Amino acid sequence: MCACCRPTCSSLLSLEGSPSAVGSGRPVKTFNLVGYGTDLRPDLQLGRTWGSYHQRYHASWTIGAAMTLVADLPIRLAAFQWLKSQVLAHGDTLPRVLLEQGFLFEGEQIRLVGPQGIFKPRLMQLPLSITTTSSGPYDDSFHGDNLLHYRYRGTDANHRDNVGLREAMRRHVPLAYLHAIVRARYLAVWPVFIVGDDPAALTFAVAVDAASEVDRRLRVAHGAADFSGFDGDDAGGDARRAYITATVQVRLHQHAFRERVLRAYQERCALCQLRHEELLDAAHILPDGEPDSEPVVPNGIALCKLHHAAFDRYFFGIRPDYTIEVKEEILREHDGPMLCHGLQGIHNQRIILPRNPGTRPDPAFLERRYQRFRQDMPGELR
Ligand SMILES: [Zn+2]
Repeated sequence: MCACCRPTCSSLLSLEGSPSAVGSGRPVKTFNLVGYGTDLRPDLQLGRTWGSYHQRYHASWTIGAAMTLVADLPIRLAAFQWLKSQVLAHGDTLPRVLLEQGFLFEGEQIRLVGPQGIFKPRLMQLPLSITTTSSGPYDDSFHGDNLLHYRYRGTDANHRDNVGLREAMRRHVPLAYLHAIVRARYLAVWPVFIVGDDPAALTFAVAVDAASEVDRRLRVAHGAADFSGFDGDDAGGDARRAYITATVQVRLHQHAFRERVLRAYQERCALCQLRHEELLDAAHILPDGEPDSEPVVPNGIALCKLHHAAFDRYFFGIRPDYTIEVKEEILREHDGPMLCHGLQGIHNQRIILPRNPGTRPDPAFLERRYQRFRQDMPGELR
């Protein structure tokens, strides 16, 4: 395999078939996927290897549609692999600039997003990603059926982007779903599959699935240039997808709460001003899951890991006037600089508030939380 043709994804593909016009520079025969993973092998029948195939491939990019579909699959798998590496490097939410930049695939830049919600890189025949940017997580498109309802582009069911998604549905092609948590930051989810088309409502139904499902479909679709050979042999698949899609909805809400709270506090701890985002949390004032505990910014406060843990364990309380009150027994302790500066030093200080009054902690929430702090104290100190 020549270095320039080595697929960058973990799964390698082997192909069989013979171009009907070998030597003409314009091969047109359909190539079939015959295996993946460690199954890569030279095409002995033709005495060609993946590399030599790619030399022709590079020589004549203007090729038939079938061949282009073959080209889609390695790019799609490489995109998923790239997303995985970016999430490992940057966390669950990715900045738009990163998705716009994308990655290099055999010398070509592959972006993950475009100006429209349905995005197909120039080198691909079918869409690679769908993006939700306009709706917030509490106005998103998840319905009671545990499916994402993704709106058509415009109102023309036959717009090329809508046709592309319909074709992705027909061929069981996996896509990436990018949901804007806050402006220019996206939760990336993959693989997702288009599982329904509702022209009357101008929407597609989308289900999230397990990453391993892509590999399984490749095996099931043995012999096809994409996933069109997938025959739906997927016992329990609907229940699995419903469960995974529901968990994605929960993740969306959790990430949205975190991102919005941290932005309100300009990515710093409200107590010690630590600015390392990776060490910051969005703490709930009224614990998550309690009645009246809404995942809204006034029920949150940006705290570093230490202060979040100390807040949750009632080492200190915050009065409705935003003054911090440290527990008596903590104030009496003698220990190193972390206790001295990190805990005792914040006693009677005011927390740093967001500039926008509408995002400041709700005094009513603080009062309820503060009363629990008082109850947690030994009787004589209440
Ligand atoms: Zn802190």
